[in-house]
Amino acid sequence: MEIIKKLISEALIARKSAYTPYSKFKVGAALLTSTEKIYSGFNIECAAYSMCNCAERTAIFRAVFDNHRKFTHIAIVGGPENQENLTDFCPPCGACRQVLREFCDPKELKIILAKNTEEYKIFTLDELLLFSFGPQYL
Ligand SMILES: [Zn+2]
Repeated sequence: MEIIKKLISEALIARKSAYTPYSKFKVGAALLTSTEKIYSGFNIECAAYSMCNCAERTAIFRAVFDNHRKFTHIAIVGGPENQENLTDFCPPCGACRQVLREFCDPKELKIILAKNTEEYKIFTLDELLLFSFGPQYL
């Protein structure tokens, strides 16, 4: 359980720095690699809206850049920037679910949706991305 709270804390810290001048909706994520390294990320917006990047994929791509290829947990927090105490869970978008699928066993990866270190829900990727397409099909 300690690692769960640690990941949520890291995601909350990352969220504070999110670059969201347009939506003002800040998301933070913290990813745990199979070698127990933590990579955090936040959402990054762009004036050309379709170029925005989610917090989850920022964390994943940072980890992949450092040569990590297997992840076991990801914590995600998000809400309006003026909301210090989050009132809702922030589930990952479809694109992030698919990118996570590339680097994990969907029955094992734990996705932690949190409001704070006390209020959270844990799902497996398989629960959020049922019957998914992955590397074994190619
Ligand atoms: Zn996403």
